[in-house]
Amino acid sequence: MSTTLQSHIAGRWLGSEPAAALRSAVNGHTVAHTHAEAIDFGEALHHARTVGLPNLLKLDFQQRAERLKALARYLNEHKEQLYAVSAHTGATRADGWIDIEGGSGTLSAYAGVGANELPSGNLVHEGPALSLGKTNQFAGTHILVPRGGVAVHINAFNFPVWGLLEKFAPSFLAGMPCIGKPATATSYLTEAAVRLMLQSGLLPEGALQLVIGGTGDLLDRLNGQDVVTFTGSADTAARLRVHPNIVRHSVPFNAEADSLNCAILAPDCTPDTPEFDLFVKEVAREMTVKAGQKCTAIRRAIVPRNLLDAVAQALRDRLAKVVVGDPAVQGVTMGALASHAQLADVAQRVAELRHGCDLVCGGEGAVPLGAGTAQGAFFAPTLLVCHDPLHNHAVHEIEAFGPVSILMPYDTGSDTGSHAGADGLDQALALAAMGQGSLVATLVTRDPRLAARAIPQLAMLHGRLHILDAQSAAESTGHGSPLPLLKHGGPGRAGGGEELGGLRAVQHYLQRAAVQGSPAMLTAVTGEFVRGTPPIDTGAHPFRRHFEELQIGESLLTHRRTVGEADLVNFGGISGDYFYMHFDDEAAKASPFGARIAHGYFVLSAAAGLFVSPAPGPVLANYGLDTLRFVKPVLIGDTIQARLTCKRKIDKNKRDAKGQGQGVVAWDVEVRNQRAELVASYDILTLVAKRG
Ligand code: NDP
Repeated sequence: MSTTLQSHIAGRWLGSEPAAALRSAVNGHTVAHTHAEAIDFGEALHHARTVGLPNLLKLDFQQRAERLKALARYLNEHKEQLYAVSAHTGATRADGWIDIEGGSGTLSAYAGVGANELPSGNLVHEGPALSLGKTNQFAGTHILVPRGGVAVHINAFNFPVWGLLEKFAPSFLAGMPCIGKPATATSYLTEAAVRLMLQSGLLPEGALQLVIGGTGDLLDRLNGQDVVTFTGSADTAARLRVHPNIVRHSVPFNAEADSLNCAILAPDCTPDTPEFDLFVKEVAREMTVKAGQKCTAIRRAIVPRNLLDAVAQALRDRLAKVVVGDPAVQGVTMGALASHAQLADVAQRVAELRHGCDLVCGGEGAVPLGAGTAQGAFFAPTLLVCHDPLHNHAVHEIEAFGPVSILMPYDTGSDTGSHAGADGLDQALALAAMGQGSLVATLVTRDPRLAARAIPQLAMLHGRLHILDAQSAAESTGHGSPLPLLKHGGPGRAGGGEELGGLRAVQHYLQRAAVQGSPAMLTAVTGEFVRGTPPIDTGAHPFRRHFEELQIGESLLTHRRTVGEADLVNFGGISGDYFYMHFDDEAAKASPFGARIAHGYFVLSAAAGLFVSPAPGPVLANYGLDTLRFVKPVLIGDTIQARLTCKRKIDKNKRDAKGQGQGVVAWDVEVRNQRAELVASYDILTLVAKRG
């Protein structure tokens, strides 16, 4: 690692003159300096727009997904370099794992999202296409395209690697170049990660730039095609959100701000239940992982008043076992706060909170284990209790961003003899709501009915809800872990933003447009067959054509087949499905259909019999069905006919074990009766060999 950190701007590393010193959280020694040279943000944006963007759009969604997968592998292979630097942030190995391998895991997850859920090309047909006229000459649909701008990612100090990667992955997949701006305090670790990412050779030139230090006039230079994402304090979020240029150009601004997340212990979880222990363990874990510096940490532990003492005692016992110190020293289970500024901030917030709270344990700094740690940013796990949380607003507003949590009792009704709601949770839910919007809440209960009543109320004010009981505990990823495929972000105080959530996150970097026109025009624009487009008949059966040869819209109209009673009897015999609608004349007559009908699955099977080309050929496998609807019944004596049309092609650049290239083809299938009425409609998904 260089002692003077460098920004990466317009393809060059910039910075040699030291400026601000960044200190190790463990021993106070200087780890690195920021650089004194000013960044030309005009040049950075020009580079992103004129070099990064075209380079990214030379690749398509599938190819960018492949790059993400390779990048995740590369970072994993070089992870020890990052762990070595991570130690300066005060992180234990387990803390570093969340940041470093959690980051590369997020890249992998987005590689999977791209490979499985995005098409080839750079346009997503969101669909479904809607017919807007009586004869289907005019239709409408929705498409998503890359925004054609730059993603500016501003991050907090607590996750220097994951913080960048969880934002970078979906924006890269969407095709946006990014400028990453880590929090200065731990930017030495982000710089190390960015060096690896660039060294990998996997990123097109201009796809990623790094800013060490302030953002200067960067935000003044953005336009409506750009995006800003922010993680940090609610105050900074509030300031940046109304930046005049961001407002003027309607630049999307996504914020993840600090929030006072809660965990609620339901009254059914008495000390003799495993759930009581799970609650205690979860609160203690959230207080100590990353020394409590997680935007999702449990700040408010809400417990039935009659269990307050038992919970306090159990937490005190558990926290007494925490060993604070240099993460490099064997036996240390909690490291330091990320910086000395953070230490001062946490001490100040705890002092403010103590006005209305009693101290259960901690509070006076910490005596760290390890040589030379006297100058480190250590703080003891600190548990407070607020006896009147309904009237103490400070405990719902002041966030001590460290190993600090506040116990809050609620009355269940049975405590007071009054009737505080059927399940005794009303006051707990009112306390949760006093946080005014959080990233996550955990509800610990054994009772599914109680969960069913409480969760909709909690969902109004929380981005993620984690229900914990003895069954889910075995595999639970925990209260505090945002997952790549689940939404991260909460309303109100939590910033009102959304990140992650699988494909949802990619969509934040894509622009949606409605498109109207004839079905043929929509097919041409979306690259996906829209019904009503004149079919293409090449004279060859589509199943005899290789992946490269198939055109969207290529179609086969099959011969016909009349459905007889023997078909129902045979199909019932083969499948064992003797449902009365197929076999009981009297019952079927009394039904809305008025007569026996064919099994829906018989119609599917018969349609396959009509459209397949049986000899070996390029179609290798049928691996599923999408959007199946049995639109009308098929009666005995009806005649069915199928139309099979090449709807969508996805080139995943895949080869089988013998090196045979193959792609995915989705076929639109319409099955109609003798009156040309649609009886069944679906897509079938096949693997089709390439000729090459
Ligand atoms: P800040 O809001 O001060 O900083 C967050 C990021 O914004 C940093 O990269 C910071 O850069 C940058 N920034 C600050 N001011 C500006 C500006 N005017 N223009 C552009 N960028 C700016 O939060 P901190 O990281 O200092 O943490 C403070 C508090 O935020 C914590 O105590 C905690 O309460 C909360 N927090 C919330 C997190 C969450 O995930 N929701 C995570 C971490 C912290 P620089 O570092 O250079 O100032």
